[in-house]
Amino acid sequence: MSATTWTTRCPKCDSCLSQNKAGRLCAHCEAKQPIRFTVYGDCQPAGSKRAFFRNGMKHPSVVDDNSKSKGWKHVVAYSARQVYQGPLLDGPLRFTATFYRPRLKGHYGSGRNAAALKASAPEYPTTKPDVLKLARAAEDALTGVVWRDDAQIVDEHLFKRWGEPARVEIVIEQIEPTAAAG
Ligand SMILES: [Zn+2]
Repeated sequence: MSATTWTTRCPKCDSCLSQNKAGRLCAHCEAKQPIRFTVYGDCQPAGSKRAFFRNGMKHPSVVDDNSKSKGWKHVVAYSARQVYQGPLLDGPLRFTATFYRPRLKGHYGSGRNAAALKASAPEYPTTKPDVLKLARAAEDALTGVVWRDDAQIVDEHLFKRWGEPARVEIVIEQIEPTAAAG
């Protein structure tokens, strides 16, 4: 490996890279790359927000009525930090999440058919939790970690599928301003 530094160009925007970064994106394009990560575990929905007054309190306490969602949100935030430590994004975003739930044992045959899906097994997971509530928990977890405010999400693509292990695959893209905009 030679220590020579040569001039090359960013493969995406064609801007000059003065450093020895052949084949790599410039810092600007690198920052615009989609943020992709997988969070393993049993995806939890955000619960309903419940407000109540404790004795002597002037303001209500607001709690999420799904007690499991707090721990899950920490796992989501942790997983995001493994791949993104940049500044909080503040522009328009596209959020794509695919939630995988393991099939139930009853979907499979027994004995020598234990690995085979029954004809009656449902093709899609149509039972709770709702995909919107799953997404809301993930969005809550990523607010203040990846973006400033989940109102920045202007495109959202959500999928709920069977799959093992239980996980959610998340892709966050910054939407580039179009030439026509403004
Ligand atoms: Zn570039």
